[in-house]
Amino acid sequence: MTGFRHSDAGTAEVVWQPFLDAAPTVHFGDLPHVQRALVVAPHPDDESLGAGGVIASWSAAKVEVDVVVCSDGESARPGASAAARRHLAQRRADEVGAAVDALSARAPVQLQRWGLPDGRLERCGVELRERLAPLVAAADVVVAPWPGDGHPDHEAVGLAARGAVAVSNTPAPLLEYPIWAWHWATPELLAGDTVIGVPLSPSAQRAKAAAIACHESQHGGDDPILPPAVQAHFRRSEEFFVVDDRTLGTLTPLPRSSPEFFEHLYRSTPSGDPWDFDVSDAEQARYDAVEQTLGTRRFRRAIEIGCATGELTRRLAAHAAQVVAVDSSASALRVAAATCRDVGGVELRQGHAPDCFRSDDVDADLVVLSEVGYYFSADTLADLVRELADRSAPGCIFVAAHWTGSSPDHVLDADTTHSVIASALGWTHRSSGAVGAHRIDVWEQP
Ligand SMILES: [Zn+2]
Repeated sequence: MTGFRHSDAGTAEVVWQPFLDAAPTVHFGDLPHVQRALVVAPHPDDESLGAGGVIASWSAAKVEVDVVVCSDGESARPGASAAARRHLAQRRADEVGAAVDALSARAPVQLQRWGLPDGRLERCGVELRERLAPLVAAADVVVAPWPGDGHPDHEAVGLAARGAVAVSNTPAPLLEYPIWAWHWATPELLAGDTVIGVPLSPSAQRAKAAAIACHESQHGGDDPILPPAVQAHFRRSEEFFVVDDRTLGTLTPLPRSSPEFFEHLYRSTPSGDPWDFDVSDAEQARYDAVEQTLGTRRFRRAIEIGCATGELTRRLAAHAAQVVAVDSSASALRVAAATCRDVGGVELRQGHAPDCFRSDDVDADLVVLSEVGYYFSADTLADLVRELADRSAPGCIFVAAHWTGSSPDHVLDADTTHSVIASALGWTHRSSGAVGAHRIDVWEQP
């Protein structure tokens, strides 16, 4: 026990950022054959705070997820009367039920509430381990609190989960989530542990936020258990887990922005669409805006770099006789082939631009670079843009569209991406606009 209080100033989220940015990335595809996941939480809210994003992702992928909440969290307020504790237990039971519903997508998440005594779980270590063992044995991946979290209940449940993994001799990875350590610990204190980041899709992030919002008893009122500075640790675009060497050996963390990174990202997202391109309103608005910049002009030959799942490709095919759409990920292109199966004139090509271009890829009169420029270094991006310019015809339109938010996966931000493109092209700037959190610029070859 570290003696922290929820109302302490704690470690600001910004202090964690460099540490988190350096953490290796692991995708769901690195967790082979996940059909059943077990998530263990000491109290109602730990499941949403620590693992809401991966729960939502698994549910969306039709993975069976069992969530075990060991106590009803009745002792969150020391000194409360017995009646008040009973009332709080019921309230938190309702809240965790709603939270699990919020995390359920394609497969309903199964909730078990064990009702063990909140604040005294360390006395229940043997019972916890024995009850968890068969659930652990049936799971392909186990998610539990990190025993180093500094809260006795979290330590007890984390150690019981480790014990259950050990006695069942399962090969399943064990992902351990810190909760309170983000508040009281520092990056230096976690430097000796292996921490991995699991990127969350926008829909998983939304589901997690909705689930956390269900735990009103913990973040409402004058003295919230989860004040805003603590909640800030749980709005990340990734979830971070402590792993031991055994689990690390079952995973293949990848450096960010490598071609393998993207291939894994697609392979590991069961829907084949890591960014929810097909259903996200923001993405659809971006496609609408790109189409609007094209107007009624009919293009001869379009080149699209980073076509991903082909959503924009399909739309571009309505404006151009021929679309050459390039992506480095074979998995993405399989989805793109399905997306574009009913439109003509689309050639999907796997490779890294500009190496993948052929000698007859010339006279393009439309080039589209959407949501991809910021994965390159400035020099590489400038080289690519000059190569595209060399393959274009007079009057060619170059459209760039990029999200202006920040992501640990991006090498450049949107503004820098667009200024690199502008100076590498040296063309006439036609228009600049914003759609939601996306910036769209259009240049024309003079
Ligand atoms: Zn807790």
